[in-house]
Amino acid sequence: MNNKQLDYSLIISPNLKFKQFGNSFIVKNVFNGNKVVFENNTVQHLLDYFSQTRKISEALDSLDGDIDRNIYIIKKLIEWDFLIVDLGLIERSCPLCKSNNNHLLIEHENNYYQKRFKYVKCDSCSFVYLNPAPTETALNFFYSFKNYYSVIPVNSKKKFEKKLQKKSNILRTNLLQDYCKIDETSKILDVGSGTGNFASYLSERYNCSVTCIDKDPLALSFINTHFPSIKTIETDFKQSNIDEKFDLITMWGYIEHEQDPMLTIKKAYELLEPNGLIVIDAPNIDGTLAKKSLHSWAYLHSPYHLCHFEPNTLKKILEDANFNIIDLKFKKTGAFLLKYSDFVLNLIYKYQLFYSSSSVDYLFYLLSKIFRKGESNSDSRVIIIGKKKQIS
Ligand SMILES: [Zn+2]
Repeated sequence: MNNKQLDYSLIISPNLKFKQFGNSFIVKNVFNGNKVVFENNTVQHLLDYFSQTRKISEALDSLDGDIDRNIYIIKKLIEWDFLIVDLGLIERSCPLCKSNNNHLLIEHENNYYQKRFKYVKCDSCSFVYLNPAPTETALNFFYSFKNYYSVIPVNSKKKFEKKLQKKSNILRTNLLQDYCKIDETSKILDVGSGTGNFASYLSERYNCSVTCIDKDPLALSFINTHFPSIKTIETDFKQSNIDEKFDLITMWGYIEHEQDPMLTIKKAYELLEPNGLIVIDAPNIDGTLAKKSLHSWAYLHSPYHLCHFEPNTLKKILEDANFNIIDLKFKKTGAFLLKYSDFVLNLIYKYQLFYSSSSVDYLFYLLSKIFRKGESNSDSRVIIIGKKKQIS
């Protein structure tokens, strides 16, 4: 990781209590009960350093020793809630129409990051987006330690997790088959692939050529190790420079994470063969559950979800980028518990019921299985299929 890229601040958690016993140094986070005993000068040095808000890059420069090791320590301190990333929020204009006129739609409290994030609605095109939003570098750092890239780890040893994973892949593939023929000659690009959950299934089933794009080097190195036949590209998709064309581009739960969805779709257009297809799956802010109670809508998911779509905005960005809309579907999902997810998450963090985020996600899947029967709304997510227009 490039030290110079870490150009944002960290602040020490206001919830910390310190106690000294001889040479040891006990730090406890009273908010969630996390506690650790430090006998390590580096850690103590960092905590001293961050007690005055400083740039992470300067702190790293001031430390002796291995930079990767120091970055690791900082990440751990963030994971334990001793350090909070100061996201360096920046105001932005509407990502779709560039208008600066908007009004507050909802303020969303994220207890985990101890921050309130605002979603605004554009006055001229009604698009919903996070504003102000974190800088790209701050977001990149977040993604790199939150084990974010795969809801169910592709290498999960849990039988039940594996089953769920497979079922989701079958559903996705069945959907694709309604619109295109996939065989060993197909060239497919999966954007925001994470650890290759979907891509590996596709490649194995059809023996087709699959390329994965993701910004997360850890996720991609996992693919390289476990699925060597899959090509990986570590890049920001909208700024990528790829010398290849594809028959199909898939974006499962990706577009809502993008700062600039329009540029993303234009890039997809550029990379598709004539008549190539794009398939986008995203949370639907116009769905019944979101409309019923936006405050408790789990898909708000700030600050990761930078934009929120409804069928009309998805249609618009595709049409503006020269795609014909082939179909639009709604999907029922495991976003279940929508009403209680914040509450459950807070309990988990408070009582340290789980340590890894994949276990938390696993729990949510289990609960979704139990409560799914009670879920009467089936438009939680929207899937849109577009075909590249032939330019005559
Ligand atoms: Zn707008």
